[in-house]
Amino acid sequence: MTTTLLVLGSANADLVVEVGRRPAGGETVLGGDTVVLPGGKGANTAVAAARVGASVSLVGALGGDGYGSLLRESLESSGVGVELVKTSSRPTGIAYITVTPDGENSIVVSPGANTDVSASDVDALSFDGVQVLTCSLEVPLETVVHAIDAAAAAGVRTVLNLSPVAELPADTLARLTVLIVNEHEAAQLAPTWQDLLKLGPKAAIVTLGSRGVAVVAQAGTVEVPAVEVDEVVDTTGAGDAFAGALSARLAAGDTLPNAARYAVKVAALSVTKSGAQPSYPTEAEVSALG
Ligand code: ATP
Repeated sequence: MTTTLLVLGSANADLVVEVGRRPAGGETVLGGDTVVLPGGKGANTAVAAARVGASVSLVGALGGDGYGSLLRESLESSGVGVELVKTSSRPTGIAYITVTPDGENSIVVSPGANTDVSASDVDALSFDGVQVLTCSLEVPLETVVHAIDAAAAAGVRTVLNLSPVAELPADTLARLTVLIVNEHEAAQLAPTWQDLLKLGPKAAIVTLGSRGVAVVAQAGTVEVPAVEVDEVVDTTGAGDAFAGALSARLAAGDTLPNAARYAVKVAALSVTKSGAQPSYPTEAEVSALG
């Protein structure tokens, strides 16, 4: 199947351990068993898109270690193309996550191989048949900038999940089809949602947690409410679920508002289960929502 969606971004092993309390400097505390979960914003986004039927490949890097093999297998088993995921001499990216009984996370990220995703990897890409390139930041900013510029030059639509906020050249922002930010990031970037367009993208989407999203276009802003769920179990990776599903529907030819209406369903289903990738729904589960 031709790849119609490319996702450029990180892949990490999330090592999660529950602790009674966080250790102070120089202190040791015992935690529960370590749970290893596939994560990283790029991998999450690609998996969310694949689950709802996109023909998607991840552009990224993993180490030649055990976590790298685990992540590669987990991407493949979710239906994500891994031919553009290179094996780096650096270790696979790892997020060390401690969770305290109040549910709060403390995270140390060791980006490792993700820092190796480079402009030359972008130069090696073929955009034949590709409809959409979606990028997130946890890989070098200059690589993301180069990828957006190259995709736009090839006539490919570009989506950027600008999380965390970083400064991009004005001409790269002007090449964006859709800028995705959450409401805190939006407030950092511009005084009003409509002003996000003055940064350059053709459209912007502001994600509003349990309130849904705002789709901002030149013609005005349309709010798409979230789908209500019976029980919120874990919102980790909801933003990546939204970005992946939105990209999948854009690559399939949907308009932006319709793609956003579909993606809020995917994001809502993702908060009803724990974890990021394991919580992402299939196309059939989304259709069952009506
Ligand atoms: P994260 O960093 O946790 O991935 P984010 O800050 O990037 O999240 P949010 O705005 O929190 O993004 O969530 C993304 C989308 O997920 C929302 O726009 C909404 O559609 C959906 N969502 C989040 N929380 C809920 C909820 N409680 N109920 C239904 N949908 C939700």
